[in-house]
Amino acid sequence: MSGKNTNAESRMRFLESELTKMSKAYYQDERPIASDSEYDKLYDELVSLEKSHPELKNPNSPTSKVSSDLSSFLQEKEHTVPVLSLDKAYSVDEINAFVNRCIKECGKDVSFTLEEKIDGLSLVLYYKKGRLETALTRGNGHIGNDVTTSALRIKSIPKTLKEPIDIAVRGEVYISKDNFERINSTLDEPYSNARNLASGILRRLENNENSKSPLPLDIFVYEGWADEIDRISEHPDMLNYLHSLGFKTNDHIIIFKDSFDVTDAIKAKTEERKTLGYDIDGLVLKLNSFKMREHMGYTEHHPRWAIAYKFDSPSGKSKILSIDITVGRTGKITPRANLAPLNLLGATITKATLHNSSYIEELELSIGDEVSVSRRGDVIPAVDEVLEKNPDGNPIFHLPSTCPCCGEKLHQKGANLFCINENCSERIQAEAEYFVSKDCMNIDGVGASVIKDLLRFDAIKDYTDLYFINYNEVLTGKPGYKEKKIQAIINSVQKSKDEPFTHVLAAVGVEGIGLASAERLVNAGIDSFEKFIALSAKDDVTTLQNIDEIGEITAKTILSTFRNPTFRRKIERLKEAGLNTETKASDFEMISNALEGQSWCVTGSILGYKNPDLAMIEVKKRGARVVSGVSKKTTHLLVGSNPGSKLQKAIGFGTTLIHDTDFKAFLEDMDKKEGL
Ligand SMILES: [Zn+2]
Repeated sequence: MSGKNTNAESRMRFLESELTKMSKAYYQDERPIASDSEYDKLYDELVSLEKSHPELKNPNSPTSKVSSDLSSFLQEKEHTVPVLSLDKAYSVDEINAFVNRCIKECGKDVSFTLEEKIDGLSLVLYYKKGRLETALTRGNGHIGNDVTTSALRIKSIPKTLKEPIDIAVRGEVYISKDNFERINSTLDEPYSNARNLASGILRRLENNENSKSPLPLDIFVYEGWADEIDRISEHPDMLNYLHSLGFKTNDHIIIFKDSFDVTDAIKAKTEERKTLGYDIDGLVLKLNSFKMREHMGYTEHHPRWAIAYKFDSPSGKSKILSIDITVGRTGKITPRANLAPLNLLGATITKATLHNSSYIEELELSIGDEVSVSRRGDVIPAVDEVLEKNPDGNPIFHLPSTCPCCGEKLHQKGANLFCINENCSERIQAEAEYFVSKDCMNIDGVGASVIKDLLRFDAIKDYTDLYFINYNEVLTGKPGYKEKKIQAIINSVQKSKDEPFTHVLAAVGVEGIGLASAERLVNAGIDSFEKFIALSAKDDVTTLQNIDEIGEITAKTILSTFRNPTFRRKIERLKEAGLNTETKASDFEMISNALEGQSWCVTGSILGYKNPDLAMIEVKKRGARVVSGVSKKTTHLLVGSNPGSKLQKAIGFGTTLIHDTDFKAFLEDMDKKEGL
């Protein structure tokens, strides 16, 4: 390999890893570590290298990830056939009740088909003279998104039929379990289910015209409308006819003619589910005779001749009451759904995240829709699926193009929108909320509502003002602020001035510096604002980059932030206010080397210390290293009340546990042995 190629290859691997880190920070940590233009620059460079060195392209390159080009600009078109949703049953009893209703109303010579309910998304294909003309998603049942260009790239969708007829067919687009796992494993933010990934792929905008390669999607077709097929009178015949035209139909069906004991069939199908190459989330039972279907008719929302049986799932049903748009401290726009209260795993849920605009688009979500909501572990509840479109025909929800707070035009970055106005008051509010939080200045008397009031009273312009205003003057006489409360605010603001420099460094909101990285930076000797400013004057990227888990982009972001005059003024103000803008000598004044070679971590609140870091200073003073997370290398974990997941990890690694009730005695014993 020539020298030039070696250079290109190492540069490509470097770009891949930087871009992956950056997009993880965006999507998962809500903590961008690079500006939009920096990201774009690196992305473009990688694309151009991949073009000139196709043989060096990594199949998992960030440039080929499906999450990167989801679009909110698909055209909307009206359906010309009825695209109804089905009534849902959650028990076999409900299914039997449906069967009995049909027998009662249509007589004993009824027959049914039991089909798999594919965990995919509904697609309606419109053919003219046998040629595929339009493919629309279900949308709100009346209007869907035009995804024809994508449909043309799905192998199992015929482009021309075996008969030159006009026909509309409905089917379910899905992704196989194999493809789901393969593709999901390459994504920074994996999809929680196959349906959402299939939807994401289908809705990809064709921004690359050369790309005609088949999409990793498949379809089963199960319904058709055409004048020519009026002669067909039963559902199974319809399936056969669709198959004869060239459509892929699912032959895993069970037809009930004489006996209607569906219970065993449902049991068997539920078992079979695991062995299938695709996900199914339930079964559908349909009356076969089209004449009888007409007789059964429709409710306001559903046909009365079919019912869907949903497998058990740890999710619940609710309704979207409204959607709030929030602006984060980095300017990131997040939509949140307000839900009709539902009980899930013992908690009442009234809000759920909708992540971003692509996610809403994938769900084809409107206000008023009935949705399924799930909560996995302690994660924020998420809206998973639309169960029932709202009866009012509300349009699919679109995020605004301008900031709902300040009106500034929003910028799209990956799947997310950002408000880039530094003076946006919701951003300032979010910055201040972060500043007072536990891992930062820990000002417990000042929470979101107090900050909101202070901004509303024009008492503060940003978080630094918290240390300069006269709270008695601003708050006395205001509703909700009794003398006692005002005094508590004053006390906790005052107390926060003792927070160690690591907390101040985390609090000022440099992109890429949280408490853990602040500790790493300080332990590496960059233990004052002064030193950061000196590094930024020299543009010394290397020193920062040599520190664990700090990449080139983060290093550059830190340095440019410390050159920013507005930011520098904030730091000056904090210094003026008496905050620790450097690590106090007393923090690390060594007492002994008794704990040298040990690596300590802490979890929970520690008896006798106002915050756990102060307990860790005690072990630092005795020569131990302190780390923010438990790993194999951690030798000791100090365990307080309400310990977190670190405790489980430590037990797994066999780390020595010291309980906070024994901690003081442990230190005293140690010092005694050292002759202190
Ligand atoms: Zn704004």
